[in-house]
Amino acid sequence: MTALFQQLPSVDKILKTEQGEQLIQTFGHTAVVNCCRHLLCLAREEIKSSQTIPHFFSSFDNTITEIQKHLTNQQQVQIQSVHNLTGTVLHTNLGRALWSEAAQQAAVTAMSQNVALEYDLDVGKRSHRDNYISELIHQLTGAEAACIVNNNAAAVLLILSTFAQGKEVIISRGELIEIGGAFRIPDIMAQAGCKLVEVGTTNRTHLKDYRNAINENTAFLMKVHTSNYQICGFTSEVSEQELTELGKEFNIPVITDLGSGALTDLSQYNLPKEPTVQENLAQGVDLISFSGDKLLGGPQAGIIVGKKELIQQLQSHPLKRVLRCDKVILAGLEATLRLYLQPEKLAEKLTSLHLLTQPIEQLTQQAEQLKATLETLLKDDFSLQIESSSAQIGSGSQPMAKIPSIAVTISGKNNGKLTALLARFKSLSTPVIGRVENNKIWLDLRSLANIEKLLTTLKELSA
Ligand SMILES: *Cc1c(COP(=O)(O)O)cnc(C)c1O
Repeated sequence: MTALFQQLPSVDKILKTEQGEQLIQTFGHTAVVNCCRHLLCLAREEIKSSQTIPHFFSSFDNTITEIQKHLTNQQQVQIQSVHNLTGTVLHTNLGRALWSEAAQQAAVTAMSQNVALEYDLDVGKRSHRDNYISELIHQLTGAEAACIVNNNAAAVLLILSTFAQGKEVIISRGELIEIGGAFRIPDIMAQAGCKLVEVGTTNRTHLKDYRNAINENTAFLMKVHTSNYQICGFTSEVSEQELTELGKEFNIPVITDLGSGALTDLSQYNLPKEPTVQENLAQGVDLISFSGDKLLGGPQAGIIVGKKELIQQLQSHPLKRVLRCDKVILAGLEATLRLYLQPEKLAEKLTSLHLLTQPIEQLTQQAEQLKATLETLLKDDFSLQIESSSAQIGSGSQPMAKIPSIAVTISGKNNGKLTALLARFKSLSTPVIGRVENNKIWLDLRSLANIEKLLTTLKELSA
């Protein structure tokens, strides 16, 4: 054992060689020293436990190669690219909406150059970072103004904190939802220090339920778009229109959390209809909040639109400063919204809408390419098929709505083979993420951003 320990080089000895000096040139002294110490530590443990010397100290070249590998890997970002073949287009765990080309460019400019973020170039004076977007939202929806925060959860928190602290908010029992990841309407109400007044029942709420709950301590009437589940059968809810009429009668605002929130009618693309911001405004809703990275197809953000007077109150609440967006997000969001000014080009330029509207024939073509590539790489342990599939919008939008899609399915001679293949897919340089259903791997093409890149990645399977 002592002999083995003596075979290990000292840190100094490694550094003083020509290759050692080259490593220092590339990675810097600190990282190389730390890496040498780490490898030596591993080696001592291996000698102690199994009386062998690890392969990376079996020769000097091996040691240098190991250090190089280690220090290169150290710079590998873990939030890495994956191929989304889950069939869920706005997949929360895979980062939701992909940014459009225009949004990416705006973001790169904002992060690498000085930008007129809070500076009005016309008058040469300080302005407000939400102004550009507020004007665009006005143009697109007719809303008087907008306030932008970190995400829609933040938007709801800011609204409640600004208007309802120490007061009551009336909401239907059928809308007390959990979004997932600990965002529950009752909890967020408690966090904002307001009292939740639940009215109606899980399946039925009537206008008189709201009316009976109104008192002098009522801050506003709230509606939450229950985007991630559906109540079917004997149901009844109060429309925004009826609610805003009631609100006017008592001079109380009506506020909706629209969740995904669409700025355009999705049924024109044969997609399931989501209530639009414009419809909510037309129904007289005073404030509406929605996400930037769901159906809108932009960066993570919470967008609050509506009455100027109310927006101004949100803007001056101290929490707004806590929840505000940075320049990169605002630039990306502005570029995303500008695409909506040219509606005929939207499905081409807005990546998420492009994915959702790809024709089946196009997906079938991609499936054929994918199947052919896999057939040459997987040998005959597996059987491959092209099948119709049901994709989803994702992010809680329309969970019941199935979007027609095409998948390549893989079944194995046994389950062990399929599990091993899934693991191989995940270990590729750009991991491939599918879904498992009925003992098959489903590679759904609806959610895939780039077929060429996928085919290139898959070639690694032959190695
Ligand atoms: C998604 C969603 C939220 C949370 O939005 P984030 O942007 O993810 O914070 C809140 N309310 C509803 C109704 C939602 O669908």
